[in-house]
Order: sequence, then structure tokens, then C-alpha cells
Amino acid sequence: MATVATTGIAAGRLSTVEYQDNFGDLHAPLSVHEAAVAADRCYFCYDAPCQTACPTDIDIPQFIREIASGSTDSAARTIFSQNILGGMCARVCPTETLCEEVCVRETAEGSPVEIGRLQRFATDIMMTKNVQPFTRAAETGKKIAVVGAGPAGLSAAHRLASKGHTVTIFDGRSKAGGLNEYGIASYKSVDDFAQAEVNWLLSIGGITIETGQRLGAEISLPQLQSDYDAVFLGIGLAGVNALGIEGEDLPIATDAVDFIEDIRQVGDISTLPVGRNVIVIGGGMTAVDAAVQAKLMGAQNVTMLYRRGKDRMGASEFEQDLATSKGVQIIFNAQPVSVDADSMKFAYTADVDGKLTPTGETFTLPADQVFKAIGQTLQDVPEGLEIAHGKITVSDTGASSITGIWAGGDCASGGDDLTVTAVAEGRDAAEDIHSFLTGGA
Ligand SMILES: Cc1cc2nc3c(=O)[nH]c(=O)nc-3n(C[C@H](O)[C@H](O)[C@H](O)COP(=O)(O)OP(=O)(O)OC[C@H]3O[C@@H](n4cnc5c(N)ncnc54)[C@H](O)[C@@H]3O)c2cc1C
Ligand code: SF4
Repeated sequence: MATVATTGIAAGRLSTVEYQDNFGDLHAPLSVHEAAVAADRCYFCYDAPCQTACPTDIDIPQFIREIASGSTDSAARTIFSQNILGGMCARVCPTETLCEEVCVRETAEGSPVEIGRLQRFATDIMMTKNVQPFTRAAETGKKIAVVGAGPAGLSAAHRLASKGHTVTIFDGRSKAGGLNEYGIASYKSVDDFAQAEVNWLLSIGGITIETGQRLGAEISLPQLQSDYDAVFLGIGLAGVNALGIEGEDLPIATDAVDFIEDIRQVGDISTLPVGRNVIVIGGGMTAVDAAVQAKLMGAQNVTMLYRRGKDRMGASEFEQDLATSKGVQIIFNAQPVSVDADSMKFAYTADVDGKLTPTGETFTLPADQVFKAIGQTLQDVPEGLEIAHGKITVSDTGASSITGIWAGGDCASGGDDLTVTAVAEGRDAAEDIHSFLTGGA
């Protein structure tokens, strides 16, 4: 074990085995026998509520029936036909608030069919064999520019390529995948799965990815409009909200997304320093992921503070339980006041007639590291596009206020900021683009 400082920030707080255990797969894959047993619990409901709850509308009873009958390739095809990133979604979807929450086994017995794990079982088998289940239609001669290689952009690109269009994806970063690569917690996506999935998706052909190409710097919207037949924007939310309090620029206070990205990209997590006393500000998935991973890296005290009550927290009950099960303390109704070199001050709040009101009580916590996780914001939006509530305004099928430009995923209006929603929106926009380019054919 590396040297551990008595105070402050240090790398190598744990043994190699502890790092391996802590950052291994959150949910181990199902064995063939376990999958058969799990599939056997499905009632194959008519008008299945699980399917209705899935943003990509996967025919869940169908794919579970296919697993039950031993046709895993058919099951994978059923999943991928609706959600080409079904492999990643099987790992990261908050199934406890989507398909599994409404599963009749959950409502009747408090124990849902393990839909997410079954989805992973089927998709992993096909992806491990490196089989691409779809072939491209004949070339149409149409060219489409997709900006952003995250779930929305990749999903749009695959659907467009399958219809015979030629797609170029531009991304400002050095690797494709968006938050699948840079944001998702390490224990949800192990063994470089995000890059493996991108490579597998590209095997359909007709898609080129150009990294290091940022809209607003190396490329511009007018240029894309003149060079391509259509443009899809899937640029996510690249900015982060500031706390707007005294001391937030001190070195101990950084953005949670940067910390999470470092964990995903560092290779050897034991070389990454973490504090003894870590504070995470926020109540969403990003805050939970930063807090849990800080704890898993050996931080002694990790405290998440959220300004409202438990019922208003963005993170699901499952995620809150995950955090507390790993030893993270969650303090509700606490609003940040100021950051100091080695501590942070908070004020207690109360919901008074729906309005957040300070109670007048304050408290201070010791801190070596403070991670800010109070939301992401839209960046690099080209001029001329209609924006409302911090998102690009789009129709149900992703069409923006400018003809020939579509948008989807986190950067666009409508839907939750989830991987599966981004996939659905990319796919639906691709269908609309295809219809537009082929005159509704
Ligand atoms: C820390 C964190 C953890 C999360 N965990 C989960 C989870 O467990 N489960 C879940 O369902 N959802 C999770 N989410 C949400 C999920 O990751 C997003 O909803 C999803 O990635 C959105 O996909 P997207 O394609 O719209 O955007 P992104 O994934 O953000 O991809 C956008 C892409 O556009 C590129 N880009 C941005 N600006 C430009 C530009 N100007 N020019 C060129 N390229 C650009 C970026 O480099 C990026 O590759 C998490 C989010 C965060 C921040
Ligand atoms: S709701 Fe549950 S039992 Fe019914 S089809 Fe879906 S997974 Fe099967």
C-alpha cells in the first residue's frame, strides 16, 4: 500500500485488492442458469407496463420469452432494434424507477423480474461474438453531420447509417462515447465497455467519427449546413452550474464531473488522490456517483449535502440507498454558505409553503475536497436556434427551429436527462431526418 498522509488529500489509500473489489462490476452478469431462472419469473404480460415505462419502448416480454426459449440472439435483436445502446443501458438505466418499478412482479410481490440484468445477458452474448445484427440499406447518396458522439449522436448515426445515409460524427473530445465514456460511474461500466460498444456500433459501416472537432471552434453550423444534407446536434450539457458563494474558487472546490472523469480516464485509480473529509454538494445522480466513488477510493468521511428534503432529491431511492450502504452520509435541508481552505459552512433550510427558507441555524464541516454537483448547462449553442429553459427547443421528433437541423439528448427540450432517453431521441430524430430526406418514403 502507498503512503497515506495523516491529513488532506492522498493517493493509494487502499490495497490493490480493495481497489479491485470496490471498482468491480456493480451487478455481476447473470450466468446461463440464472438468466433462465430470472426469465422464468416473467408473466409475459399483455400491454406490458414494463415496456410502456421504457423510454426506448423495447418489447420486454418478447425478449424475455426469447431468452427463456434459449434464443439469445433473437432476444438481443429485439432489444437492439429499439435501442442500439441496449448494452450500456442494461448497465446504467435506473430500472428501479423505469421498467422494474412497474413490473407486475414488483407491484404484487415487491420483487421485479430482473429486466436490466436479462437485457445485459442477451446483449453481452451478441456483442462478445462481435455480431452486428443490422445491415445497411443501399447507399442513398445523402450525407448527414452529427455533432456529439454521446448516446444521442451515436444512436442517431446508427439509425441513419442503417438506412443507407453516410454519416460523419464530429466530437470536440479525443474519445467518442460522451458521458458513457467520461461520466458514468466506473463500477457501472467496467472493462472499457463504452469504447467496445462504440466500435461494435460502428461495424454497421457508413459512419466516420472525427474527434477533436468542436462546434464553435474547428467547425461551425453554417459550414455543416452547406456541406451536409442534414445536421443532428447531440452536444449534451457541457457546462456546469456554479454555487455562487464565497470561496468557491479555492483549490479544494472542484466540479464533481471532473473528478468522475478523472476516475474513468486515469487507468490506475490508486494513483488518484482523494481527501479524508470529502463534501459533495447536490442531490442528483452526479452527486451520488462522486460521493460513492470518493468513499470507494478510501475517503474517511464523505458527506453529501442537499438543500431540500429527501423527497425532492433527484437521485432515486435506490441510488440514495447505494450511497448510504457505502458509508456516505446524506444531510438534507442544508444550503452552502461559504468555502474555506479546510472547511465549508452551511445553513439549514426548511420548505415553507414550497419556498426554500433558511432557518437561521448554521454549521461547519471539515473538508479536504469539495465537489460541486448542482447541474450541467448548455454550451456552444450556435446562433439562431431557439432556446428555452436552457435547452434547444425541438419538436417531438427532434426538429429544431431551423429547417434541416435536429437535436436530441440532454441538449434538447423534453425527456429526462438519462442515457436511455438520449438514445430514444437520437433514434426518433434519425427517423424524422430520413423521412425529410426521402420525401416521407
Ligand atoms: C456524472 C454523471 C453520471 C450519470 N450517470 C447516469 C446513469 O447512471 N444512468 C443514466 O441513465 N444516465 C446517467 N447520466 C446522464 C447521461 O449520462 C446523459 O443523459 C447522457 O449521456 C446524455 O447523452 P447525450 O448524447 O445527450 O450527451 P453526452 O453524453 O453529454 O454527449 C455529448 C457529446 O457531445 C460532445 N460535445 C459537446 N459540445 C460539443 C461541441 N461544441 N462540439 C462538438 N462536440 C461537442 C461531447 O464531447 C460529448 O461527446 C449521468 C450524467 C452524469 C453527468
Ligand atoms: S411487467 Fe414484469 S412480468 Fe410483466 S412482462 Fe414486464 S417483466 Fe414480465
